[in-house]
Amino acid sequence: MSDVLWAPWRMEYLLGSKGGPCVFCDMAAAPPEAYRSKLVLMVAAHALVCLNKYPFAAGHLLIVPRRHAADLAELEDGEYDATMRLVRATVARVQRGTGAQGVNLGMNLGAAAGAGIAEHLHAHVVPRWPGDTNFMPVVADVRVMPEYLDATWKTLAPLFADLPGAHPVG
Ligand SMILES: [Zn+2]
Repeated sequence: MSDVLWAPWRMEYLLGSKGGPCVFCDMAAAPPEAYRSKLVLMVAAHALVCLNKYPFAAGHLLIVPRRHAADLAELEDGEYDATMRLVRATVARVQRGTGAQGVNLGMNLGAAAGAGIAEHLHAHVVPRWPGDTNFMPVVADVRVMPEYLDATWKTLAPLFADLPGAHPVG
């Protein structure tokens, strides 16, 4: 834990989470030109895909319903369907585009379950390789740098270019 406390981006997160705007709601409202700086890959009608700012493996993505909701039951059917379709689309793109040989998929519902941002639902998609030595260096918290996250964004953003709401990548 002490490894991350000094990190400025971590501090920003800790400070921002205390009464500040919800980071996922901020992403959902972001204009396309801000996607890269906010680590957003795409924003569809009801859900978005972004990089996890604190990945526990390389290429760790989050799928987030656009509306601020803490529980699956709070989502309308259309929002739920759109979120889960985006989970499916994300897994497919990660498998196809990164050569991942496995994917971890899951949701932590509530702080007691380990959710870092419990007030806004999100699903985790984590590409995996045997030994996790391929694609990009596996990162520990201490090595999660803005430069690393930006490089990951540039690698993954083109995979979503065919989806409505994707960031235009040239
Ligand atoms: Zn929110």
